[in-house]
Parts: sequence; C-alpha cells; structure tokens
Amino acid sequence: MTLKFSAMVLSSKDVPGRWSLVLFLNGCNFRCKHCQNWKLVLGLEEPTLTEGRVIEELEKNPAIDTVVLSGGEPTVHKPEKLKTFLEKLKLQFPYVSVRIDTNGYSPQVVRDLKPLVDGFAVDIKAPLDDKDKLSYTAGAEADPEPIKETISIVDGMPLTLFRTPRYPWLNGRDLEKIKEFTNSLKSPWFLNEFFLVEDCPFNQLSGAP
Ligand code: SF4
Repeated sequence: MTLKFSAMVLSSKDVPGRWSLVLFLNGCNFRCKHCQNWKLVLGLEEPTLTEGRVIEELEKNPAIDTVVLSGGEPTVHKPEKLKTFLEKLKLQFPYVSVRIDTNGYSPQVVRDLKPLVDGFAVDIKAPLDDKDKLSYTAGAEADPEPIKETISIVDGMPLTLFRTPRYPWLNGRDLEKIKEFTNSLKSPWFLNEFFLVEDCPFNQLSGAP
C-alpha cells in the first residue's frame, strides 16, 4: 500500500534558499477557478511514479534538502499511506525537510501528519469570514472553519507559510481582511501573482451567488 505520484520536479523556487523535490499527487476536494493543476485534480492520467523512484532520486542527488508534497491536494490521500511514506523519508533521509501544500480543508489529516513534517503551505483563498467568496473561489460549498483549524495547527512551524493568489474577484477590502488576519499569525503570508488558466473546466462552476 504505497503512494503513486503523477510527477516530480526539482525546484529552487518552491522553498526559497533550498533545493526541493516537488512531488505531485492527484485528486482534490476543491474545484478552484483557474486551477493550474486541474488535470491532476481530475486524475486524467494514471500516476506512475513510485515511492521507490522518489527514493532513488533522493539517493542520486544529495543536494536535495527538501521534499514538497503538492498536487492536487495531498490530504485527500489515505493518511496511513502518507504517514508510511513520510516515515520512510525521515528514516532514510533525516537531513531532508518536508513541506506539505494544502487547501487546509482536512485539519485532522494535517494534525496526524504534523509530527512527520517541517511545515505546511496553506492557501487562504478568500477572507475567512466570507463563506460565499471562499465557495466561489473553491468551486464548491466551502466552510471556512476547517481552514481556520488547519491554520491554528500549523502556524509557527519552521516551513509553514500562508498564501493567497491575487484573484481578480478579491477586492481591496478582501485583501485587507486577509492581511489583518494573517498579521496575527506567526508564519508569513504571501500575496501571489494570479495566472489565468483559460482551459480550466472549473472556471464555469459557480460555488456561490
Ligand atoms: S485546492 Fe484548488 S487550486 Fe489547489 S489543486 Fe485543488 S482545485 Fe486546484
């Protein structure tokens, strides 16, 4: 019972100052507008990269000091599978840090995985007092509470960060509210560039009035 990945990419940008091996898992519980990885979310291609192949890559390249689990949404995978993989990494590559990228919607999984990783990158896709805007962005009925819970679990970990794409439907007041909220957190918040993904099929989903 092991994980299979859809892709892996070597990156110096994902975690600044580090060489990261970014692993992409398929599946997601959201359907965000302009999702860059919508093909992974829909699982259009069977993942073929094995855990063994990832371990081989880490053995081959000792300059890699960080593994990023991304997607898709890693937390929709079975927690036992994720844990087993992370335990293997920790045992075999104790010098490698691990970050998980997440939409924050599965706080229980995040809580379970926290002892095995060094941080999480959590998306704050809308002000967390605005369920309608969050649901609109996520393309699905989305409750802010689980995301707030995730944030409180991961805040202050060494590699934790929070991030918001500058979605065109977020106005100045929305961004101000997110900024005020994240100002009270220990980990940094980044407002990232927004990229149009015109062929993303989720752009048509409403999610909110
Ligand atoms: S959370 Fe949204 S942006 Fe991230 S993979 Fe899922 S659908 Fe795409």
